[in-house]
Amino acid sequence: MKNYDNQSFRDFEYIPGTDAWGRAAQFQNYHDDQVAKGQLNYRLMTTSGCGPVVEVAGKQVISLVSNDYLGFTQHPAVKQAAIDAISKYGTGAGASPAIGGHYDYHEIMERKIAGFFRKEHAIIYTTGYTANSASLQCILTKNDLVILDAGVHTSVMEGCQQFNRKTVKHNDLAAYEHTLKLAQGKHPLILVIIDGVYSQDGDIAPLKEIVALCKKYGAKIMVDDAHGTGVVGSTGRGLIETCDAWDDVDLISGTFSKTFGHIGGYVVGSKDIITYLKYQSKQHLFSASSTPAALSIIKAIELIDEEPFWMTKLQENICYFKTGLSALDLNIGNTQSAIFPVRVGDKIKNARICHTMQEMGVYANQINYPAVSMKDARIRMGITALHEQSHLDKVLNVWSDIKKQFDL
Ligand code: PMP
Repeated sequence: MKNYDNQSFRDFEYIPGTDAWGRAAQFQNYHDDQVAKGQLNYRLMTTSGCGPVVEVAGKQVISLVSNDYLGFTQHPAVKQAAIDAISKYGTGAGASPAIGGHYDYHEIMERKIAGFFRKEHAIIYTTGYTANSASLQCILTKNDLVILDAGVHTSVMEGCQQFNRKTVKHNDLAAYEHTLKLAQGKHPLILVIIDGVYSQDGDIAPLKEIVALCKKYGAKIMVDDAHGTGVVGSTGRGLIETCDAWDDVDLISGTFSKTFGHIGGYVVGSKDIITYLKYQSKQHLFSASSTPAALSIIKAIELIDEEPFWMTKLQENICYFKTGLSALDLNIGNTQSAIFPVRVGDKIKNARICHTMQEMGVYANQINYPAVSMKDARIRMGITALHEQSHLDKVLNVWSDIKKQFDL
């Protein structure tokens, strides 16, 4: 029997002499072997709604896998807004925005999200992924240079794939400065792209310092704050709010699928650049616009200001959980958000821990290569405002057992 333990998804992207069906057949063998060993714990089927406790395989488990940071997917007013919108408009937009699929509710959403981030205009995409990948494909040209932090999301990397790009070591200011200095004056556009809160480590960017470097060397800056929105900043506007960098950041991207409890993505910026995207970005132009149920996003945006206690509760939970994990002496790195990675290192050990946690009633995610580097496998947990102290205590107890069982 072949041992697949040291293989990863990447190994099946290209196999000399095979076509897609040949690769798929080999991947299927790898998949079945790893699932049978409890080492591929993805796509678990949940049979209840998003929340702090969910039903998986007929069992109630504490869920640490959602990015529904403020619990708005279950908020009665958010749900009602979607129901009302469907009653008024029906279920679909029926067309792409340029040719009949642009409704008053899209205008309202655009204005609302632009205003939330104190920018002039906003464009909405079908997903947060597309907001990054599509807008970058439209903004960049072959003469430009994009400078990426190593921790940015795959969607950003995909948007930059066919352009000149330099990836700098995560949050390493000396590396940023070195790269910017070399590039200064050599490209029509130098665009630095960072996250506000990084999705796998939960740490934040040194935004003020990066902004200063961008100014010094003539670069523009784009911030994806998908995980900072609703979590960081005194009113949930993310890292840019914490740093009061509204006028220093050229583009902000993000998603409606996390704190805003729906699906979709946005890019906000100046009127000109956003209008340009609306007419030039193919994935926006030629793809159907958001469904009426997206009106729930408006309510979610309003609730961040109207019901600040959700953020307060989230912060209390973050603080409680961080203290508990630190007391167990687990390696959670430098997280400053609702994302808690426990670094395990070895991917097989990581997968087994994930599986054992599930058996003990805790649903967390295993993060392996290629999402993180080969030796950096970790269990990733996300905390929400809806978790109760009893849920967090149970998770901490499970970690206490796991630590002994797996010699962490
Ligand atoms: N940016 C970051 C930092 C993300 O973590 C994600 C997804 N987790 C996205 C963008 C894409 O957002 P979506 O899942 O809404 O497409």
